Amino acid sequence: MNKAVFLDRDGTINVDFGYVYKAQDLKLLPGAAEALRIFQELGYLLIVITNQSGIGRGYFTLEDAELFNRTLAQELEKHEVILKDFYTCPHAPEEHCECRKPSPFMVMEAMKKYDIDPSQSYMFGDKRSDTECGERSGIKSFRVTEEHPLIYWANQLKNNLL
Ligand SMILES: [Zn+2]
Repeated sequence: MNKAVFLDRDGTINVDFGYVYKAQDLKLLPGAAEALRIFQELGYLLIVITNQSGIGRGYFTLEDAELFNRTLAQELEKHEVILKDFYTCPHAPEEHCECRKPSPFMVMEAMKKYDIDPSQSYMFGDKRSDTECGERSGIKSFRVTEEHPLIYWANQLKNNLL
């Protein structure tokens, strides 16, 4: 089986300016690319799990969100980081879909598709809904904050402290 690091996108990898979808609003958080490279070097697949309710609210389209995802992937390729896949919930909360975090749905789909062992995997995100999603998927989950950004967690994992 494979092991994976599941990641929230906005506020975890890139700066969350609020409903980010324009390429010019792509700004990597300090240390994020290095953190992802550490996870990758430790043998984890990198999979992004993102709520994009701006689509359901009509602020931008699914195509806009997917273009932003590709732009992010290309930016990270410059740092030799390969994002394996993106799972995007396009729904507004009022739609009561099955995929929106904290639902474990998108993580479960990814675990099936890529034969991922939850006991060897991690979720990192800046919101309670991220860690709850991870916990409901049966994977160890940690909150990204200003004090503890993604690079902090990558170093913790590298040093066998998680
Ligand atoms: Zn959804």
